[in-house]
Amino acid sequence: MSNKSSLPITLRQVTKRYGSAYALDHIDLDIRSGEFLTLLGPSGSGKTTLLTVLAGFTRPDSGSLKFGDTEVICTPPQKRDVGMVFQNYALFPHMTVAGNVAFPLKLRGVSANEVARRVEHALEMVRLGGYGERGVHQLSGGQCQRVALARAMVFEPRIMLMDEPLSALDKQLREHMQIELRQLHDKLGMTTVYVTHDQREALTMSDRIAVINGGRIVQLDTPRGLYDRPANRFVAEFIGESSFVPVTIQEGAVRFDGAALMTPAHPGRDGPRLLMLRPERLKILGNSGNAGLNTLNAKVVSTVYQGDSSLVQAALTDGKLISVRGAPGSHVGNACPRVGDNITLGLSVEDTFLLPEEAAQ
Ligand code: ADP
Ligand code: MG
Repeated sequence: MSNKSSLPITLRQVTKRYGSAYALDHIDLDIRSGEFLTLLGPSGSGKTTLLTVLAGFTRPDSGSLKFGDTEVICTPPQKRDVGMVFQNYALFPHMTVAGNVAFPLKLRGVSANEVARRVEHALEMVRLGGYGERGVHQLSGGQCQRVALARAMVFEPRIMLMDEPLSALDKQLREHMQIELRQLHDKLGMTTVYVTHDQREALTMSDRIAVINGGRIVQLDTPRGLYDRPANRFVAEFIGESSFVPVTIQEGAVRFDGAALMTPAHPGRDGPRLLMLRPERLKILGNSGNAGLNTLNAKVVSTVYQGDSSLVQAALTDGKLISVRGAPGSHVGNACPRVGDNITLGLSVEDTFLLPEEAAQ
């Protein structure tokens, strides 16, 4: 659809305060041309503020914002060549579907013939070809969101901003739309900044994710990088499930309750650290064949059947509770262990991840 090139976005020291509180605290961020980047963080972390700074609705107190080589901090929203989709579709209820999608083109003085052609094309892109004459009130929630999307992209913006666009939809439709949005992005190639508080949605859709907390970017990485190598406990807890076990580094070895654990790389300086355990990476072992694994002894505290998997809670020898997740029937002997059983847990050396030193407290 678009024959214009997409644009990289560069933020330097972007700061916005409300009273004495920082909504954005000296944000540095480089968004690549054509990339799908997600801002992920809890409620109140500054995601919407950052997106409205990109759109031009919020003026930061200080800092620089460039689209390509152009400083845009003083450029008004309508001159920024940015498409936006919000959580509440904000469609015009009295207009038809085509009327809604045509709106940004009419604002820009595009001729009637050209409007009709581009509206139909945009509707086809979101799989609503032929829906132009319907009223907005005749559409489902998912269809309304697709109209909002068509309206945001009909003028072929080089940057697309989306603020929790799927959060009003039910789970099944949301998961379907996640895949559709991503495919649409891959087809059109515009630089996309997407906001969500849903870590699974972020993992599903993004090239990279910026985890934001308290107005700061705490980690920027690929989905796999964030999941496997979180920079600190906040990221490890926010993305996926995890348990943390206090361990001690002694002369290059990781010690837990008398046992030594191996790590893929040298664990670093002597002192206390936190071992991160992902429930699905732990295996409940039988008596033989533990080669290549670190092992921990534990006692089963509870078991829960959850359909696609079962969750076992177990207490380590120091009393610390951890979670183990497996496919039902995948546990040893094809039976879920019972409460009170003593079990041995195996963790592959590659999955033995220590949080960085500064995160050990
Ligand atoms: P998120 O989108 O991540 O939930 P926001 O960007 O909406 O977070 O808000 C970040 C912080 O800035 C919050 O503490 C919020 O209360 C505050 N904030 C946002 N907008 C305003 C405003 N217009 N006036 C005062 N405080 C605001
Ligand atoms: Mg928000």
